[in-house]
Amino acid sequence: MAKIIDGKLISLKVKDEIKEEIVKNNLNVGLALVRVGNDQASKVYVKNKIAGCEYCGIHSYVYEIESGYTNDNVIRLINQLNNDNNIHGILVQLPLPAELDQELILNSINPNKDVDGFLPYNLGNLVNNTNNTIACTPKGIIRLLKESNVDISGKNAVVIGRSIIVGKPIALLLLQENATVTICHSKTSNIDYYLKNADIIVAAVGKAKFLKSSSIKDGAVIIDVGINRDENGKLCGDVDFDNVKDKASLITPVPGGVGPMTIAMLLENTLELAKKYGI
Ligand code: NAP
Repeated sequence: MAKIIDGKLISLKVKDEIKEEIVKNNLNVGLALVRVGNDQASKVYVKNKIAGCEYCGIHSYVYEIESGYTNDNVIRLINQLNNDNNIHGILVQLPLPAELDQELILNSINPNKDVDGFLPYNLGNLVNNTNNTIACTPKGIIRLLKESNVDISGKNAVVIGRSIIVGKPIALLLLQENATVTICHSKTSNIDYYLKNADIIVAAVGKAKFLKSSSIKDGAVIIDVGINRDENGKLCGDVDFDNVKDKASLITPVPGGVGPMTIAMLLENTLELAKKYGI
C-alpha cells in the first residue's frame, strides 16, 4: 500500500509559517480576489482563498462582478488594483465568462502583482530558470515532493497534460530539479510506453480515474492534480486511487492532496510579492 502524501497537513505547515512571519514582523499583506460571472465552482474556490487569507493574517479584498461586465470595466478594476499600495497580489479567478477576453484581462495585471504566475513575463522567467512568481499548483507539487523526501534528480518524470497553468510549468520545474521529463497529451501515441518507465507521474488530465495500475511501474510516485466527479457525483482525481494505491510507493489523494497546496502557495506567493515589491 502506497504512503499517502497528506497535502492538508503539509499545507497547514506552510500556512503556519506564513502566519508566523506576518505576525512576527507586523506585515501589511493584501490579496485582491476578482471573480466575474456566476460560475458556482469559482464561488467556492474564492471562498476557500478568503479563508486561507484570514488564517494567515493576509488582508483579502474581494471584487465580485456578477452582471454587466465588459473587458473594459474588468480591466479598469485591475488598473485600480495595480495602483493600490495595499494590494500585493491580484488573482482573477478562472474561468472568466466566455464573452470576456481572458488573455487581455490577465495581461492587464502588473507582473509584479501576478500572484498566480500565469503572465508571459513569469512563465518566461520559469523557462529562463530565473524564477519570479511560480504558478501555485506546480509550485505546490514540488513542495509536496520535497516534503515527502522524494529525490527528483535523475528520475524519469512523466507529466500527463500540457496546459499553461499546470502541465507546462510543472514539467519545467521538474526539469529544474534535474528530472528527465516527458510531457504526454491527447495526441501521444502509446502513452503506456512512457508511463511504465516513469518514477514520478503527474496527472493533470481532467478525466476522472484516467490513470490505472496497469499503466504504472511498481513503486512509482503518483501526483494527482485532477478535480473531477465520478459516476456517482463524488469528487475524484485523474488517478484511479483504489486501483493504483497498492502499486505506487507514494500517492496524493483527491481531495486532500494537491488542492490544499495550491491555496497555500497562493498565500506564500502573496507574502513573497509583498516583501519584494510592496512594503
Ligand atoms: P486542461 O487545460 O483541460 O488540460 C488537460 C490536458 O490533458 C491537455 O493538455 C490534454 O491534451 C490532456 N489530455 C486530455 N485527454 C488526454 C488523454 N486521453 N491522454 C493524454 N492526455 C490527455 O486542464 P488543466 O487546467 O491542466 O487541469 C487538469 C486537471 O487538474 C483538471 O481536472 C483541473 O480541474 C485540475 N486542476 C486542479 C488544480 C488544483 O489545485 N488541484 C489546479 C488546476 C487544475 P491536449 O493538450 O492535447 O488537449
